[in-house]
Amino acid sequence: VDHMSEEYLKYMQSLNKEQREAACSDTSIPLMIVAGPGSGKTSTMVGRILTLLKEGIGPTNILAMTFTTSGASEMKERIGSVAGKAIAKELTVSTFHSFCLQLCRSHAEKLGRTSDFLIYGHGQQRKAVIEALRLMEDSKNSDHNCGPHKLEESCQMNETVQYFKDKSKKWQKFVTRAKAAGKTPEDFQKVGDEISASILGNYNNILRSCNALDYHDFISSCVMLLTKFPEVYEECQDTWKAIVVDEFQDTSGMQYNLLKILASHNHITVIGDDDQSIFSFNGADLCGFDSFRKDFPTYKEVRLTKNYRSTRYIVEAASSLIHHNVKRFHQKEVYTDNSTGSKILVKECHNEEAQCAFVVDKIIELTSDGSDNKYTFGNISVLYRRQVTGKAFQTAFRNRKIPFNVHGVAFYRKKVIKAILSMLRTALPGCEDGPFRLSFKALLPCEKDEKKMVINYIDKISISGKCSFISAASDIFGAKVSGTFKRSQLSQGRKVLGTLEMISKLVRREQSISAVVSSVANMLPQKYLLEKRAVVDLEGGKLLNEDDDLRSVIQYLLEDVSDFLSMHYGSKEATGKHEPIEAGCIDVLQAFIDCISARECENFRSRKHDNENSVTLTTIHQSKGLEWDMVFIVKANETELPLLHEYNGVVEGGGTLEEERRLMYVAITRARRMLCILYVSLDSYCQLLLPSRFLKEIPEHLLEYQTVRYLHGNQAGVSNNAVPLANSVSPNKPSIVACRAHNNVDENASNDLVELAEANSGNMFLQRFHVNDRPTVSHLFHQWAK
Ligand code: ATP
Ligand code: MG
Repeated sequence: VDHMSEEYLKYMQSLNKEQREAACSDTSIPLMIVAGPGSGKTSTMVGRILTLLKEGIGPTNILAMTFTTSGASEMKERIGSVAGKAIAKELTVSTFHSFCLQLCRSHAEKLGRTSDFLIYGHGQQRKAVIEALRLMEDSKNSDHNCGPHKLEESCQMNETVQYFKDKSKKWQKFVTRAKAAGKTPEDFQKVGDEISASILGNYNNILRSCNALDYHDFISSCVMLLTKFPEVYEECQDTWKAIVVDEFQDTSGMQYNLLKILASHNHITVIGDDDQSIFSFNGADLCGFDSFRKDFPTYKEVRLTKNYRSTRYIVEAASSLIHHNVKRFHQKEVYTDNSTGSKILVKECHNEEAQCAFVVDKIIELTSDGSDNKYTFGNISVLYRRQVTGKAFQTAFRNRKIPFNVHGVAFYRKKVIKAILSMLRTALPGCEDGPFRLSFKALLPCEKDEKKMVINYIDKISISGKCSFISAASDIFGAKVSGTFKRSQLSQGRKVLGTLEMISKLVRREQSISAVVSSVANMLPQKYLLEKRAVVDLEGGKLLNEDDDLRSVIQYLLEDVSDFLSMHYGSKEATGKHEPIEAGCIDVLQAFIDCISARECENFRSRKHDNENSVTLTTIHQSKGLEWDMVFIVKANETELPLLHEYNGVVEGGGTLEEERRLMYVAITRARRMLCILYVSLDSYCQLLLPSRFLKEIPEHLLEYQTVRYLHGNQAGVSNNAVPLANSVSPNKPSIVACRAHNNVDENASNDLVELAEANSGNMFLQRFHVNDRPTVSHLFHQWAK
């Protein structure tokens, strides 16, 4: 404790006055900190937790909620360095989802589930929605007594399946939203919406009968447990004496309800920035702040206005951008005492390939600089709006030997990871049919169509025989059922059954989870590698070393095992044989699978096996709360950032445009010293792309443009394309327009361009090129000078 007081004082001294006041203020008064990016919110939250500890609240009685795992582990580290590792380990720093998952597991029977219930991810949720739709159609047609399986057998089967698949997308969204809002089927019934009521009701029943919860259920189920079961409420009150929530702007209404109940003792601190709210698709809404004011009327509010993270140019650029949002709850003016820094580099690249090349060159240049200003790989990140944009960078980085780490859930959505997890699941007691079916599918080495046929046949036998998938499979391949299969198929099926049995034995025999995971992974057929290869091939990237690739997936998973063990059991042995698991392997395995499955559903949970010295590739969503010296925002194009989908019913200027702007705001404010925004001018079909409108919302004097604009002259629409593009070039920044054209260039188009060039008083330069030519910048300057 003495050690702690000294370190505690030191930490408090590192905070500024407002931060310190907030961190040390009366812990029985609800506290709300609203402040802009980089103002030390998270640092203050750490201070707050330290104060709680100092006041004698046990580490096991503090619940800290963060939005990403990287946030969670960073927080534990920071607390550990002040309060000591042992104390930090006892703290619960969790995401909403993993916190709720645990509570659900310990009270599963109250939810009509067993404690080993399954977690339905996106794919399984979709299937359940399809089933719910079918049931509804069936009940409509109940006169004809047309059950779901009859329907399947009917000649229209394919059409029907397609019909449900098409509809299911919409209804899956509906289910997600309804759950996030805490709606029950009865709510829809009350307003006469029978269809919605029936689908949601069916869906819930399906999940119940499958002993499953989807990830929206975690939160609402916890709210239900806390409100309907006084003993659960008491238990939580006894355990969680103080609650601290970071990134409060991203809590959904349901998550807020949970907080409200948990924090009825008023020992709550919430910290957030409404301008950084970027998870509305996940049910987050900005009402949280207002609700907090209403529900905790004795609250104290603190504003932090000084940005410590970024240079002045970056802070100014971010503030100007966010001022374009109309719906802002708190107008926060942020300032910084940091130096102006260098201007924000805006770079146009003719396509994504060139964009990668630029980033790679720049990184190599920055990191090999001999001066003190040198950047390290670990201090650089590349941010993008959509996961796919990052793929090309992985290839480019690999080719140029730049170490990188990818933050992303994509990893956990990989087929191979799902296959490995379902195989592991089959070994757990009380395992339902689902994992067996998935594993069977994964392990069967035959081609897609053949596989489908085999699986469908097993499904059919299991339905008609009213037995489980796995016992149907045993009957078929044990030749108890005279089947339609070829000999080769029979032997394949038998082999799969053998493998599944082996997994189950392995889990019971092996004493180390890592050993189990790697043996199971190695049982997968080679096909998993081939699939991967096809993908990389299509993207025009270099082929990966196949072997390396599966190995790296397994390696990642093993690192997860080690993270998991060290987080929960204090052991760091990843591959050693001395994990603290003797008899309890199955329990630990179950917990591990849970932990990994929760990652898939917790949107944008980051991986934290990051090498300290590697460049981070991540989506903007996942970059929340983090910071780097140098940040590249790539593909800042219209239709990408903002990413506006018409099918979402989003119109320009709609609420979602504001959310996209907030995303750009989050991205910009991740940078400490240097920011580079890139956009591309041509997509892979050689269609012209426009730079993001957000670039125009940043004041000119903060930007340094490096652009070569290519206009296509061989398309009829060139003048249409040229006008908006040329308009986005402001008169006072040196800019070049290169007109690439066939010889038979459309006269009108080029006239338009000439006019535009003249209107821009010589800052524009027009040159015709053959469509295949790609003049370099220096070539163009040379021409211009002439
Ligand atoms: P975000 O909104 O992006 O989550 P934040 O408000 O949580 O940002 P922090 O991550 O806590 O900000 O802090 C940003 C940076 O500023 C960190 O590098 C932190 O160490 C530094 N910082 C915070 N407070 C101070 C302070 N009083 N003096 C010096 N540096 C500080
Ligand atoms: Mg923060």
